[in-house]
Formats: sequence, structure tokens, C-alpha cells
Amino acid sequence: MKIGVLALQGAVAEHVGMLEQAGATAVAVKKVEELDDLDGLVIPGGESTTIGKLMNKYGFMEAIRRFGAEKKPIFGTCAGAILLANRVNGQEEAHLGLMDMKVERNAFGRQKESFEVTMPVAGVAADYPMVFIRAPYIMEVGENGQVLAKYEEKIVAARDRHYLAAAFHPELTDDIRLHRYFLDMVREYRS
Ligand code: GLN
Repeated sequence: MKIGVLALQGAVAEHVGMLEQAGATAVAVKKVEELDDLDGLVIPGGESTTIGKLMNKYGFMEAIRRFGAEKKPIFGTCAGAILLANRVNGQEEAHLGLMDMKVERNAFGRQKESFEVTMPVAGVAADYPMVFIRAPYIMEVGENGQVLAKYEEKIVAARDRHYLAAAFHPELTDDIRLHRYFLDMVREYRS
């Protein structure tokens, strides 16, 4: 199983390391052609507007939309979740628009720029460590959507068909259970 991590900005090496620990072959993806032989893709955190611009510049916007249309799983963390969403609160246009959900950027306020909590994630863990950094939250999921985790009544992890989104940064902990869950999704869609 070969998984790519979009390497335009953000914590790429950390995701690669965790995917490998979870049993996949993982590669940093810098060119559109590198998507061709992948079974799944991770879009890391960073700054969604910056990553969005770079995605447009290097042809990733259309290429990743095709990747998703081929039912290949995509996991977006933090800014990656914003990029996946088909609705961004207060913005006229979304980015990839693949995952049916509405997100709000920078949702946890300035005084809480970054913090860590431990919360359950449905189907993954009863005690998952979540690192939030200027994190978005998911305001609502569409009709195929499944809420996987909430923090302070806000949805912070969700799944919609072959798309997975987390408002937090699983790659900044040493808990590989969410990456393992994503690899199970990839396996499910490959067969
Ligand atoms: N606030 C960032 C954004 O809107 C996301 C932060 C992150 O990925 N850590 O893109």
C-alpha cells in the first residue's frame, strides 16, 4: 500500500513517519505525476490559503479532484481538512470541494492558539491525544457524513465516504491509531 503526503507546506515528514509505522509505504508528493501510483493521500496542516495557492500553481487542484473522483481515500488534517471541504464559512469558494462538510477556520479563538486534549474518536480510540494549532472546526457534515469526534460540542473529526478529516494534528503525537484507521479505509476502497 503506497500513500502520498502532499509536500507543499506543513508537517510532511511526521506524516510520512507515522504512515510507515502504521505499515504503509509513504512518500512526500511534490509533483502531480507522483499521484499516479498512490492508493491514498494525506493533506497536512499549514496555512490553507497558502497551500491552496500552491495547489493551483502546480496543477494539484484538478489532479487531486480526479484522485478523489477515482475513490482513492484522502485524509486532511487541520488546513488539509479546510482544503477538502466543499463549504468554508464566510468564503465564497471552497478549495478542493471534495468532502461534504462546512468548516470554520481559526475556530478556537486567539487565547487558545494551540492546546492539547485527550478525547474519544469513534472507531479509533477512547483516549486519542489531539493537538490543536489555530484549528478549524467542522460546523456540519453532509448526509453521508459520520461525526467521529467532538471537543466542546464542536466536531473535530469526521468521515464522508472515502474522505477523512481531522481539525487537529495527529502527526504531532506518537499515536498512530488514526493513521492506522486511514490505512483501513484505503484497504476497504482498494478491494
Ligand atoms: N489556521 C490554518 C488555516 O486556516 C490552519 C492551521 C493549521 O493547519 N495548523 O489554514
